[in-house]
Amino acid sequence: MEPKKAGFSTRAIHAGEKKTEAVPVAAPIYQTAPFKFKNAAHGGRLMGGKEEGYVYSRGLNPTTEIFEKKIADLEGGEAALAQASGMAAVSAAVFTEVSSGDHVIVEEVIYGSTYDLFVNLKKFGVEVSFVDTSDIGNVEKAFRKNTKLVFFETPANPTMKLTDIKAVSEAAHDRGAKVFIDNTFMTPYFQQPLSLGADVVIHSATKYLNGHGDTIGGVITGTSEFIKRARHTAKNIGGALSPFNSWLITRGMKTLAVRMDRHDSNAMAVAKFLQEHEKIAKVIYPGLENHPQYDLARKQMCGFGGMIAFLIEDAKDVPVFLDSLKLCTLTISLGDVETLIQHPATMTHSVVPRENRLRYGIADELVRLSVGLEDAGDIISDMEQALDNI
Ligand SMILES: *Cc1c(COP(=O)(O)O)cnc(C)c1O
Repeated sequence: MEPKKAGFSTRAIHAGEKKTEAVPVAAPIYQTAPFKFKNAAHGGRLMGGKEEGYVYSRGLNPTTEIFEKKIADLEGGEAALAQASGMAAVSAAVFTEVSSGDHVIVEEVIYGSTYDLFVNLKKFGVEVSFVDTSDIGNVEKAFRKNTKLVFFETPANPTMKLTDIKAVSEAAHDRGAKVFIDNTFMTPYFQQPLSLGADVVIHSATKYLNGHGDTIGGVITGTSEFIKRARHTAKNIGGALSPFNSWLITRGMKTLAVRMDRHDSNAMAVAKFLQEHEKIAKVIYPGLENHPQYDLARKQMCGFGGMIAFLIEDAKDVPVFLDSLKLCTLTISLGDVETLIQHPATMTHSVVPRENRLRYGIADELVRLSVGLEDAGDIISDMEQALDNI
């Protein structure tokens, strides 16, 4: 007698699901929510926290783990935790470290949503001081007995101001505080904050790491001890990165070095062009010798990246200029193959009250440019024809 054939629904679920012998070169996408236990005892050990392993993709997934191991390796961290967005990574890192009653020092020029997050931390009883960390004296003055954390980006978004990673890390460690750095703009190819003394590095992987503008993601890297705690916190917040998005980011990272080299050389060419143009009041690019912190740039970075800030002579010409561009794409975000351009005062930094914004140097005339991988000459020609219209 033939074995009883399983029913239609059972076969629709189980037929053909046997593991294959094929060994792929590109990593497979483990598009699964739970992972099977070997037996009841194994399940008990995993769930009881006695053994580490794959249980559920909100906590750990093999595809996502490739991304985590890759970024930890490149940044010089012991471990990493991927999250569904750069902001999920920032939140998970901050919530892991900070409790009510703690004090945090935050650079005043920072990604708009990060600024907003720290403003809102006040409602959880966290004291926050926004400070110009580019001057170490300001950081030293801001420390309190309960300072737990110093958080900044360097170069800062969008003014391209730098903070001395080594000096701030030493000052913070002397007082028992930690240093978290958002390294989205530089990537580990051009700057490795952990090697300069920082404790934790955060990325919006949406930008250069993925590099193709087709997914959102974030990641935190640091010691195994910190990442273990962050993984626990993040699992309860729930912002897991999907296996497919992890796979896209991992694929993007394979070309990070070649892309960053081209972003850097293209940005230098565009910055030099803008600097010579009569309708441009000022160009802020760390690779130009007139950047006020050019020496620091050369000391803590090994390239200058693809981000440029510049001021158009008259704020009223900004929309005319932006609307005249044909090749450069008018949008927020950065780090993509396409050249992206935006107006921080009305776009990414519109959440910052105007009075503060102007004090931080985010002027109405300021334009932020993420130089892409097109031919430099074509990007320059587009800027030139748009500037002719104002
Ligand atoms: C984009 C960005 C973020 C936020 O990342 P998302 O992936 O958009 O959540 C944080 N920091 C910097 C510097 C960024 O550019």
